[in-house]
Amino acid sequence: MYAADLDKAHLQTENAVFLLDESADFNEQLCRDTARVCLNITIFGKELNLTIGFLDVPIRICDIIPVAQAICDKIISTTLASAESLGLHIPCKKGCNLCCKNLIPLSVAEALWLNEEISRMPGYEQKVLHRSIEFARRKLLATKPPDFSEKNSKQDVSNWYAGLNLTCPFLAENMCDIYKSRPLACREHIVTGTRHCDGTNAQNTQVLKPSVSVLEAVAQLCREFEENQTDAIMLPIAMEWAESVKSTESKTYYMSHLLGRLVEILEQQAGMGQG
Ligand code: SF4
Repeated sequence: MYAADLDKAHLQTENAVFLLDESADFNEQLCRDTARVCLNITIFGKELNLTIGFLDVPIRICDIIPVAQAICDKIISTTLASAESLGLHIPCKKGCNLCCKNLIPLSVAEALWLNEEISRMPGYEQKVLHRSIEFARRKLLATKPPDFSEKNSKQDVSNWYAGLNLTCPFLAENMCDIYKSRPLACREHIVTGTRHCDGTNAQNTQVLKPSVSVLEAVAQLCREFEENQTDAIMLPIAMEWAESVKSTESKTYYMSHLLGRLVEILEQQAGMGQG
């Protein structure tokens, strides 16, 4: 479930282009009108320095997700390189889906973005995905889900979800049907431990928590910028939730405000991790 190394990301939304690169010739790639922010963090002793160029245009909060995913992939590839240089074994590999029964929380921005992403897919693919999302949604709602609130810790909710034995609706023939668009929670889930992780040797494997979490940073960004204070939405009900609120989500912000704050939050997380 972890991201492959991403050397360069050229991401496009309807009205903005983002370039993500740490190479020395980056300045030449940028046109004169492009704004930029820099992210400088240390992950398990390895430095990550990114320059992110963008057109400073108004965007909705969900439009930040493609660049958040690209930053996340960079952080994860740095985390993996650091972990391996420390001698840790990472058993995660293509085709493994043992973690695809876990609770996948989405932030408000990510739920809205993923719902739009699915609506842009060809009709047949949409139909297949909607059918399997509906199956998972019904199964989940058949038992009353707890709230993500102070009363129920994230671990309590995760334990309840694990008891449902509900495979992710996007898993088909042991592969992720939305791999390029998969949630930040999936990108950030890395396991370390024994050579063969088969889901039964929990005592020999552990989840490697990256010192910074783009998932949590985006959730914080949403709480700071949006009136909708929903903290997290479980994946099987996220599309239904996004449909119910999408008509009220028209507010826009300058890209520099959203991206600048996202980078600040990530640097704060990294600073706290070192303290
Ligand atoms: S979105 Fe993809 S990677 Fe994430 S849990 Fe579902 S199938 Fe697995």
